[in-house]
Amino acid sequence: MNIEVVSVGELLVEVMREKVGQPLDTPGTFVGPFASGAPAIFADAVAKLGVQSGIIGSVGKDDFGKLILERLNQDGVDITYVSSLKDYTTGVAFVTYFSDGSRKFIYHLPQAASGKISLDQIDKSYLSGVKYLHIMGSSLSINEQCQKVCYKAVEIVKNSGGKISFDPNLRPELLSVEKIRQICQPVLSSCEVILPSEDEAKMLTGNKDSLTACKELLNFGPKIVILKCGARGSVVFTPNEKIEVPSFKVKEVDPTGAGDCFDAGVVVGMLRGWNLKRVAKFANAVGALTVGKKGPMEGTPNLDQVNHLLAGEK
Ligand code: ATP
Ligand code: MG
Repeated sequence: MNIEVVSVGELLVEVMREKVGQPLDTPGTFVGPFASGAPAIFADAVAKLGVQSGIIGSVGKDDFGKLILERLNQDGVDITYVSSLKDYTTGVAFVTYFSDGSRKFIYHLPQAASGKISLDQIDKSYLSGVKYLHIMGSSLSINEQCQKVCYKAVEIVKNSGGKISFDPNLRPELLSVEKIRQICQPVLSSCEVILPSEDEAKMLTGNKDSLTACKELLNFGPKIVILKCGARGSVVFTPNEKIEVPSFKVKEVDPTGAGDCFDAGVVVGMLRGWNLKRVAKFANAVGALTVGKKGPMEGTPNLDQVNHLLAGEK
């Protein structure tokens, strides 16, 4: 198997409030469990776009773990380096949405299998041929062990000529902004492309304007920054250019996972050697298709669906 893209980090199930505006501190109905975890959604989307992907991480030896692994396996993700740990339960995230579009999470992660990734799972021979390693700030935020694992994977892939893509995917629920900046630094300085949302670009730099923040992010080391702007699409920054790329008009049912699927579109587009405008347009299409279904991984589109949406625009 020729694995071109690998992600490392949390696999979990998401359990979400059935209706908008139901806070998590009162009784009410939930739906799920849905397969989730930002690195898992990313790897799943890459595989569905036709590029062989793999994921390194851990689940518990329980039915939630089984649900995630069956789903990844079915979509073509290599799960050789996912451990099923008998002494831990699979990670869980509870989420609720509010009518202003904001959301609130409760994570059961650091003490669950998601946070128990071991350095032994970072196999040099597995990672040496990889073209892109995708790291997420949410994985760095789980605990020190997860940071060490991610840094080690970055080192191996960089030393063997591969590239790093980084989605800050900041979760202030897990860590303070100061701490987040500190733990992201080693990855920021090693990566080819950073894929922040507007809030994340502001948080990482301390700059109140997301566009200026992205220009500042280029000084951290990456060649490219692509800003994700939800329904408005994305903006590509390189030291010499800024390209605004509008998204597609779709009905948003559940926005979670759009960013991770967008990342997958970017990495797949870069592997195809496309220019950055085409890469961003393709990634916008992948992100837009994701938001149409409830559940973070339920809407990950395949290549035919993306091509169909792109063709409709012409
Ligand atoms: P998350 O962290 O929840 O996965 P994010 O904040 O990282 O999301 P978004 O900006 O919400 O990322 O979404 C990523 C991309 O998906 C956007 O840049 C856009 O291209 C596309 N997208 C997201 N929401 C919509 C929408 N409602 N309509 C059209 N395109 C969308
Ligand atoms: Mg995100």
